[in-house]
Amino acid sequence: MSVDFTELATLINLNSHSHNKAGIDANAAIFGSWMQALGYATKTYHREAIGNHVHFCATRRDGPRVLLLGHLDTVFPPGTFTDFSEDEEWVYGPGVCDMKGGNYVALCALRKVYAQQGDIGNIDMLLVSDEETGSDDSKALTAKLAADYDIALVFEAAGKNNEVVIARKGIATYFIKITGKGAHAGNHYSEGVNANLAAAHLTIYLTSLTCLEKGTTVNVGKITGGLSANTISPQAQLVVEARFTGNDEKRRILAAFEHLPKHNPVADSFLTVTGGLQRDVMQSCAKQKQLLRQIEEILGYPLNVEKRGGVSDANVTAGAGVATLDGFGPFGDGDHTINERASKASFHLRVNEVAKILAAFNQPR
Ligand SMILES: [Zn+2]
Repeated sequence: MSVDFTELATLINLNSHSHNKAGIDANAAIFGSWMQALGYATKTYHREAIGNHVHFCATRRDGPRVLLLGHLDTVFPPGTFTDFSEDEEWVYGPGVCDMKGGNYVALCALRKVYAQQGDIGNIDMLLVSDEETGSDDSKALTAKLAADYDIALVFEAAGKNNEVVIARKGIATYFIKITGKGAHAGNHYSEGVNANLAAAHLTIYLTSLTCLEKGTTVNVGKITGGLSANTISPQAQLVVEARFTGNDEKRRILAAFEHLPKHNPVADSFLTVTGGLQRDVMQSCAKQKQLLRQIEEILGYPLNVEKRGGVSDANVTAGAGVATLDGFGPFGDGDHTINERASKASFHLRVNEVAKILAAFNQPR
């Protein structure tokens, strides 16, 4: 049987919340033992505070190089959503679709290729440990490693009709600190500089940068500030997230944050802006279209495609200039909730599809 859900259960039952280093490393060790059986060498990128990132490398030969990409971490702390379960149609548990299930699809496909061709060359796999917290640590590593590949296939969950993902919005996150001047609101009103007022003006300005037509959104998601009703607020903070579908809009938004002080009308208040681009835009491009055509030729039928607002590490490889397609994992829903589940049928479908694709790209001995 090509998909053994008891193996998947072993991974699911071993908690690997983003802050559970021991659990993530243990998941990597089990997965690594399965990859080693296929002839893979493991390169471990050791991390002290978070789980290690692991890069499974096949033999290098001539021909195109393929990177399979997944993440080991989940959003569930130990004790919150723990166990694997299944019925006829579905598997349930933390990570069954996001994305231990996807990692497992890649493994099962590689096993099929190995069984058919006896050896695997030029197809590597990278599993990072911090995707659910924004890939803050791994994104530089992923971008650097990706530069060595021609193709990246990412195993986040498939769409409802088994869509693969051709585009994802880019995302930028900013922390804005506003410094005003505190004063007694009764005795010294005009001596104060109200940071909350600046926060209000900036909230309106930043929100106005949204352009739904172009898929650009700017969300002032958190505002804090002030001390009490009778004090002119000496400080305020905004936490802002922006998402965009194209590079033009990315540039427009990043420039707006650079010039933000110009849009603060409250005299004598000061801004400190930190943060910036978190994940680059994943855009459909000529290279990607060619890859999609090539894959459809291998499969003998067209694939459904979709664009998503949420980010993944596909943004990173696409941003690094590698032809990238995402969504090769199983279809599932309820991800990031205790109702997370994945369709058993979609596991079988994806394993067969990915095995065919990888068999065509494989460079055996
Ligand atoms: Zn996720």
